[in-house]
Amino acid sequence: MTIAENLQKVRQNITEAVYNRRGQAFATGDEVKLIVVTKTQSVERIREAVAENIVAVGENRIQEAVQKKPQLNPELEWHLIGHLQTNKARQAVTLFDLIHSVDSERLALELNLQAAKICKRQNVLLQVNVASEDSKYGIPPRQDIIHALAKLISSQEHLHLCGLMTIAPYLEDPKDLRPVFRGLYNIFGELQALRLPNTTIQWLSMGMTNDYMVAVEEGANMIRVGTGIFGMR
Ligand SMILES: *Cc1c(COP(=O)(O)O)cnc(C)c1O
Repeated sequence: MTIAENLQKVRQNITEAVYNRRGQAFATGDEVKLIVVTKTQSVERIREAVAENIVAVGENRIQEAVQKKPQLNPELEWHLIGHLQTNKARQAVTLFDLIHSVDSERLALELNLQAAKICKRQNVLLQVNVASEDSKYGIPPRQDIIHALAKLISSQEHLHLCGLMTIAPYLEDPKDLRPVFRGLYNIFGELQALRLPNTTIQWLSMGMTNDYMVAVEEGANMIRVGTGIFGMR
């Protein structure tokens, strides 16, 4: 299958998953934004996807984005989906439209500082380690901790909190992840209900190649797909 064919299939699957919600209304709406995960892919292969009118790409390393971004269509949105070290915050704010991986007060404050220097308001998501796996980054799925960090971000002039992100555990049958995705959807609803100033709780970023259909069925409105579009890395 070509990149174009794979993309068409992913788009069909998204439509089908939204349909499979069967009337269940989610606060995240019916539109699902596809982040095309381009890590390890060459600029040439990314251009094939860009030719199919993709809107956004996701990278997990600063260095790859530095190298690829100037070679690609300036209209593309850039998303940082990987872990971010505080000492790379300066570069991250110059490169990315949305940073999915904010998981500490220290990182949030550094991003605010660096965004202020370039007069930018940086869009961010909080990464939640929804299944509390030792191997994963992210804040624990506890309302008190999430709300405290959200309030801190809300008080920073150069940050704009836009929602939540998670990386689900790998399971043979992605249907078994329903409780995990439901859990984050519920946390998303509680965060929206806080009505924090300077904040738009709009994006629920969950779902990758193995599990994006289930994630969308459970309310995801932003998914991150790499293998399903480019094949095995
Ligand atoms: C690599 C990656 C993805 C995409 O994974 P695929 O299984 O290739 O779709 C999504 N999210 C994050 C955070 C990643 O690092």
